[in-house]
This record gives sequence, C-alpha cells and structure tokens, in this order.
Amino acid sequence: MKKLEKEKDKSRWWQAIRAAAGKYSVKHGVQGFVVSLLDKTCSCKTWNLSGLPCAHARVAMREQRTKVEDYVHDYYSIEKYKKAYAYTINPINGRNLWEQVGVQIHPPEFKDTKKNLAFKRRPEEGESSCRKRCGMVSNV
Ligand SMILES: [Zn+2]
Repeated sequence: MKKLEKEKDKSRWWQAIRAAAGKYSVKHGVQGFVVSLLDKTCSCKTWNLSGLPCAHARVAMREQRTKVEDYVHDYYSIEKYKKAYAYTINPINGRNLWEQVGVQIHPPEFKDTKKNLAFKRRPEEGESSCRKRCGMVSNV
C-alpha cells in the first residue's frame, strides 16, 4: 500500500524509546508522540482516525521488530472489502420510465453572500473609518 510506504519514508528520522511493553515515546528534535502498539494509538491521532499506522507508530514497530501488517485496521482487509461489496446494487430504469408523481422540486432560493460578508464593526473612539472606499477600519 502506498500510504504505508509513505509513512515508512517519513519515519526515517524519528527515534523510539521504549517506555513499557508496547508503549513508546517517539521523538524527533523537539517533537514527540506517545505510541501504544497494544491499543493501536498514537498521540498525533492519525492512526486512531485512519486505522493505518502513522510514521511514529512505524518507528515503534521497527523498534519492537513487528510487522506493520499486524497493526492495520481490519477495515482494510480483503475480507472486509468483499463483505462491503457482497450486496447487489439493483439497477433502475431510465428517467423516461419513472412514475410521474406531480411534485416539482425547485432549487434553493439564492442568497447574496456579499451582504453577509460585509464588514460591520463600528470604529471605536480614536479609530478612523474609510468604510465608503474600502470598508476597512484603521487605527490612525
Ligand atoms: Zn503518530
């Protein structure tokens, strides 16, 4: 997978320090993240959200000498893919054969967004305004 290879490239400069079994502090300069291989989480949240181990997790896995494939979420498995597409999406006829129900649907009413975006702040005492020319308030 390309995403996993990309994270592997990013992990090159990071260093993992084992804190406990399956728990690492991964650092690069002043940056640092906590990786838990047991919980499959990283404090950068990338792994937690995507299910794909981030660069920091890759460093911890390299340190622990484990395979990245063991930590990818099941969602990315072939089994889950087949299950997701196991159902048939039934085809439908063309618009010419659709039943007419007599209801017309119109597009939403157009609203001029320029009015909503207009600068509406009143100048405070001591501030001048050139609102008529440029709409800005300045501290002069
Ligand atoms: Zn991370």
